[in-house]
Amino acid sequence: MPNYNNSFSSKLPNVSTSIFSVMSALAHKEKALNLSQGFPNFESDNNLIELVNNAMFNGKNQYAPMPGIFSLRKAISDKMENLYQVRYNPETEITITAGATQAIFTAIAATISKDDEVIIFKPAYDCYEPTIELFGGKTIAVQLNPEDFKIDWQLVKSLITEKTKMIIVNTPHNPSGKILTKDDMTQLETLLKNTNIVLLSDEVYEHIIFDGEKHQTAALYPGLAERTFITASFGKTFHNTGWKVGYCIAPKELTHEFRKVHQFNVFSVNHPTQVALAEYLKTPSNYLELNAFYQHKRDLFLSLIKESRFEFSPSKGTYFQLLNFKNITEENDYDFAVKLTQKYKIASIPISVFNENTLDTKVLRFCFAKTDETLKQAAEILNTI
Ligand code: PMP
Ligand code: GLN
Repeated sequence: MPNYNNSFSSKLPNVSTSIFSVMSALAHKEKALNLSQGFPNFESDNNLIELVNNAMFNGKNQYAPMPGIFSLRKAISDKMENLYQVRYNPETEITITAGATQAIFTAIAATISKDDEVIIFKPAYDCYEPTIELFGGKTIAVQLNPEDFKIDWQLVKSLITEKTKMIIVNTPHNPSGKILTKDDMTQLETLLKNTNIVLLSDEVYEHIIFDGEKHQTAALYPGLAERTFITASFGKTFHNTGWKVGYCIAPKELTHEFRKVHQFNVFSVNHPTQVALAEYLKTPSNYLELNAFYQHKRDLFLSLIKESRFEFSPSKGTYFQLLNFKNITEENDYDFAVKLTQKYKIASIPISVFNENTLDTKVLRFCFAKTDETLKQAAEILNTI
């Protein structure tokens, strides 16, 4: 093939393959237990799969409407009203997306232009920064303290300039498992008052929150809700990350701009799963039982490794648990994660990849969305290290 490279300049010169692909591929190659990439190793509810099958047999196989089918948007609107007593108009304020990733991409694409600044908190989920960069924006990263991952809102205030266009928050937080509190949200609300800053609130783990804590959605705070894109993922809630269905909730004006981009980067999302999810959402226990389901898994995993040499503080939400290995080795987290996969046959995610300047805090992220059997096997291995 002729060499074309000379004239092609990359839009993302510093981006490499996502750590999730890298570690899952390594786990596969090494036949290791895969607690790296965040996905369940058990099946989605058969009733839900049957609903998708029925939708396919009932002819729901052509394009869905651009913003998503109305019954699903209505079901999401009802869920928001029942859980948080806030009303979002399904016609103009809710859009079904190809997973939360596309919702995040689209919200950033619709908002960020050259030289706009976006404040994000590190460790940060890996898709935010490249997307900001792709649209010419500048990421202003705030590295959180690895002890408690608390946000210093006074520091955030000092970073706001006339170029600040967006702030991105994520609660419950991947990878730390920390959650934003009422106090955090109120401080953020005060900070954004009288500004034009848009908020992107990534809430994909809304239904995975532990110890009786309440999820603090941006929708609950009027001063935030009026300027927020909330992104969510059915993949996380209903154990089917491979279906890639999520949604974005935002006030009418923001949704209007969101859909201008959405219609050209995906147009619409696969139809039969939308029909099934609309029906499935009618039974609130399908998502309300998730907290207890995953809390059991967190507690099982942590009780089994409490005598190990790893240190931890229990995850408050998400299906991730951070384990600190500073008592075990001085190696950097990436090398140690590779070694654990190759030698001990257990894969995790080194969290330096989510940190500013790949700060290494000797911490690995383990996904506990696994069968109890897998968690027992994982604990057995971790206890030998
Ligand atoms: N945000 C966070 C914080 C995530 O952990 C993930 C991974 N599920 C996503 C967004 C993307 O979600 P989806 O798989 O629905 O695209
Ligand atoms: N959200 C998942 C995680 O944090 C991975 C999603 C992906 O592979 N892009 O592990």
